[in-house]
Amino acid sequence: MKAKRPNPDTNLELCPDCGRETRHAVRVEIRTENPASANAAFSREPYRVAVCDVCEAESIQRMNDA
Ligand SMILES: [Zn+2]
Repeated sequence: MKAKRPNPDTNLELCPDCGRETRHAVRVEIRTENPASANAAFSREPYRVAVCDVCEAESIQRMNDA
């Protein structure tokens, strides 16, 4: 239950910009796909967004990829 991490919202992940593992702030965003289409209301997908603590590069990953 009690994780001994200094900050539970940060993960070590490989940052391609830094070329090494860095701390990332991870969040989930609901993004609307194809906003110009009439079906936009049905195309909202969760995305995992990780932001590098060092260079602030964002890596965005769609969560529902099968
Ligand atoms: Zn970085």
